Amino acid sequence: MERDAALDLARRLDRIRALGLPGEVFSGDLTRWMEEPLASEVVLGWWQALLRDREAGEAPDFLQFYLHVPYCSHKCLFCQFDSLPCRDAAGLEGYVSDLEAEAARFRAALGRVRVACASVGGGTPSLLDEAQWERVVRALFRGLIALAPGAYFSVEMNPETTTRGQVEILHGERANRFSLGVQSLSREALRRAGRAVIGPERVAQAVRAVREGAPGAWLNLDLLASLQGETHASFHRGAWSLVGLDPDSITLYRYQPVVRDGREVAPGVLSFEEASRVLADLAARAGMREVLRTRTSTIVMRTVPRWVHERYEHHPDRPGSLMAFGPYGESHVFGRGLYRTDFAPGGGWVYRGIPLARDEEARWELARAIARNRPVDRGEFASRLGVDPVDLAPGVLDFLAARGHVKITATRLTPTTADPDEAALFAGLVLDDATLDRLAALARTRRGAGLQWTFPARS
Ligand code: SF4
Repeated sequence: MERDAALDLARRLDRIRALGLPGEVFSGDLTRWMEEPLASEVVLGWWQALLRDREAGEAPDFLQFYLHVPYCSHKCLFCQFDSLPCRDAAGLEGYVSDLEAEAARFRAALGRVRVACASVGGGTPSLLDEAQWERVVRALFRGLIALAPGAYFSVEMNPETTTRGQVEILHGERANRFSLGVQSLSREALRRAGRAVIGPERVAQAVRAVREGAPGAWLNLDLLASLQGETHASFHRGAWSLVGLDPDSITLYRYQPVVRDGREVAPGVLSFEEASRVLADLAARAGMREVLRTRTSTIVMRTVPRWVHERYEHHPDRPGSLMAFGPYGESHVFGRGLYRTDFAPGGGWVYRGIPLARDEEARWELARAIARNRPVDRGEFASRLGVDPVDLAPGVLDFLAARGHVKITATRLTPTTADPDEAALFAGLVLDDATLDRLAALARTRRGAGLQWTFPARS
């Protein structure tokens, strides 16, 4: 089986190479397709060059830090994140030891790196116990990373494993946002998803751990819409329980279909739109009247803090200089390259990726934003990269069309390939329908105002 999968991957990689496409037309999962390991010296050299450029004012100052904890106690059926079930404590210990070694190596080569914001996600970061968190913060947040006072620092946790001690340790390093992944309080939905069945009491306990361990921090609770087994009534009950816990925000995510064992896990009967209406209605009754809608989420809150704008402008998924730590983390070194961290076969971490020259950044960034159907702020893009995205869009289109990879009509672009495997590859990696529509729309706004996302007024 493993050999078949490896052959299949090799075959697909050969196809991609034969197409002669440069990196910028691929979507965010690009580094997954780069099987060649990069020596860690290459990665460190990229960072050294970027930091030098940054000090000289020749590269963006904004650098984000992301820590990925790739383990969970079990794998939920609906999960679309890069995570592995952790079956023994040795896995977590190995992860922490590797992290310490890698952080020390980065620190020796780069010194202390000033970052604009930090986030911790996974996986399940709260799977690490307090002693392990002490080691991680020593290596990263007191070692490699220097975070400005008051900077956005967010940590994702699972209420099943959250403790006050963990929260205190992270808050002591200035973590100022904690997000508890509740997802659902329907026993049936949790059972069908293969997720631990926890009730409102366990969530309330985790909320207390955050409130007491991190006074003043922002507390968010996550829900996921459209789980199999969730009904209007169960969602209503669950959402009302969460509203009653008085969080600072509740984020409802749109269900993204995932494939398990070769079959797509279909959504349940409750739509995202209906669940959003229920949540907004219940939240408004409790005074949470601000509703922020994005393509993939609905967020209810009382006030909209300043960092909300920063978070959505500089989400870890978006391009920019991003230093990711931990297996499955994807890093972007502005004007130097992209890489993904993985587990090395014999232990430790290994990097795979591609170099990315400075003059490729703008086209690549635009194509990636489009491929991920993310908003492009015309003014911000232009001032940061020195080029108007609207001027760039036709070039991206021509570039694709000239190679015969897309057919352009008045309203849409279509990938042109007779090979179903290749079409699937394009659909997933390069140009899905939404992406194509967005490209076409962007090209049509050549003399228009460009694309802007509108947020509620800043408080
Ligand atoms: S706990 Fe979260 S990251 Fe882990 S498998 Fe479940 S949904 Fe995925």
